[in-house]
Amino acid sequence: MGAEIKAELRAEIEKYGREQGRAPGLVIVRISGDAASGMYSKAIVRVAEEVSMQARLEQLPALISPDELRAMLLQLNCDETVQGIIVQMPLPGHLSQKMVADTISPSKDIDGISPRSAGNLFLGLPSFLPATAAAVMEILERTKTPLVGKRAIIISRSNVVGKPLAMMLLQKNATVTICHSRTMDLPVFTRQADVLVAAAGRANMITADMVRPQAVVIDVGINELPEGGIVGDVDFMSVREVAGAVTPTPGGVGPLTNILLLKQCMQAAWQQAGAGKRTMDGVA
Ligand code: NAP
Repeated sequence: MGAEIKAELRAEIEKYGREQGRAPGLVIVRISGDAASGMYSKAIVRVAEEVSMQARLEQLPALISPDELRAMLLQLNCDETVQGIIVQMPLPGHLSQKMVADTISPSKDIDGISPRSAGNLFLGLPSFLPATAAAVMEILERTKTPLVGKRAIIISRSNVVGKPLAMMLLQKNATVTICHSRTMDLPVFTRQADVLVAAAGRANMITADMVRPQAVVIDVGINELPEGGIVGDVDFMSVREVAGAVTPTPGGVGPLTNILLLKQCMQAAWQQAGAGKRTMDGVA
């Protein structure tokens, strides 16, 4: 699936290059400190190189002040060679996520973190989407998973996964239930799911007995084991025996999330070029 979307993106980027005389530009802002975000940033740059998008990593010191970060984002907002901006989370404690979300221009907010993007999504208007939630929808749509009238259970109410995904699934006429850490009797809900999305960040928490036979199970969680290695929230080996389909971790939602970021950068680039209607499928 990733290869298919990358091929589509390459074609779009070539077309954009022919019309605009340069590739779309993406900047990933990363403030030193969190090791995992360093790996994610490099992975995004790598995929961008594969599809010939211009991506650069702005590595900032951990002690950068809020004013300096804001000034840098404002400068990127005005930079005509930059079509999309991502700020890697988590931020150090002295920097506010709200300030970042309020400062990035909505037209370059390709990870859908701004209040405007979130509001548009809530209202069912075209919007940039949080890329992980968008990756889940892309999997469901490309695998032609039936959603109309189906029961979708999401384990997460986070702003980056659970809440936006609930809105997207509602738009597709699924019947959506959001579960979270205070949900009582979680298995009672998960066993009802035609589509089960696990994004709690709890290693192997979804076991075969929690899954309805033939359900489609999407594993968003990425959990480092103390003994080394990475697993998802879904106990893949047991769940695959029951589910109709299940995404693997690593190698499932994660890599697709990076590709979806680039896809939304491409959409932003067309919009900024005044050609929103020619985007691959989306934000006009
Ligand atoms: P988060 O903000 O901590 O949200 C986790 C959500 O899961 C919360 O709503 C929490 O409930 C709920 N939860 C936690 N433990 C639970 C339990 N035992 N039962 C039911 N619900 C539970 O985390 P996040 O940033 O959304 O990330 C979640 C996971 O997805 C992590 O493993 C992260 O690494 C992964 N992730 C993957 C990608 C990707 O590209 N594949 C991207 C982002 C995140 P409360 O709200 O009640 O606390």
